[in-house]
Amino acid sequence: MKKYSFTWSNIENEYKSLLENGYIVITCEEFVKIKKNLPSKVVVNRIDIDFSIKKVIYLLDIFDKLNIKGTFFVRLHAPEYNPFSFENYRVLKRLLNSGHELGYHSEIVDQSIIWGEETEDCLKRDLKVLGNMFNYKVKSVASHGGNTGFNNLDFWKSNKPKDFGLLYEGYDKEPEYNLFQEAFYISDSEWTQWKCYNKGILVDNDRRSPSEHLKDEHQLIHLLIHPDTYFNNHFYE
Ligand SMILES: [Zn+2]
Repeated sequence: MKKYSFTWSNIENEYKSLLENGYIVITCEEFVKIKKNLPSKVVVNRIDIDFSIKKVIYLLDIFDKLNIKGTFFVRLHAPEYNPFSFENYRVLKRLLNSGHELGYHSEIVDQSIIWGEETEDCLKRDLKVLGNMFNYKVKSVASHGGNTGFNNLDFWKSNKPKDFGLLYEGYDKEPEYNLFQEAFYISDSEWTQWKCYNKGILVDNDRRSPSEHLKDEHQLIHLLIHPDTYFNNHFYE
């Protein structure tokens, strides 16, 4: 099988073929709102900003062109970027002004261990800080998987998003969301190849791109991509 090339033009074509095949592309927040009356072909469009906010510009251009929205999750403690830098703040503001959802890409367990602070306090402060930065209410959290060896998802084993004024956490199992367990999940998180999970269970060695899954006619697709993965000519540009 030919190796998939993670270029901007290829990811644009992935979205294009989903749309051409009758899928509607929605944010995670919209999913919560219409979950009870879900149309027959839906893609929930999630984007984790792990290392580069600047690369988000390419995605905003693609989404504008195709007239679709996504849910982006931004980190606040990344050594790789400062969301308040001149250019990054400008990009995030454009993202919000274009009607996309901006949630918090949480590292609260990492923070609590590194700083010796309560996880709950870290979460509350981060939601407040992000909300204040852009003068909006942060409604969602997704946990980042970093290199500390700790799992930021652990907090949600014993806590519920709604207790923090949130609509959902990216992998939560509350009936109002429960997206990972109910959808066909396709992700680029392995950088150089796609992977997928059917209703929470890994599909072994299935490296097909989103458009290559079209023939299976999944009713609900949960797509997770990272801007960091894509390029024009090569990964290191
Ligand atoms: Zn992440």
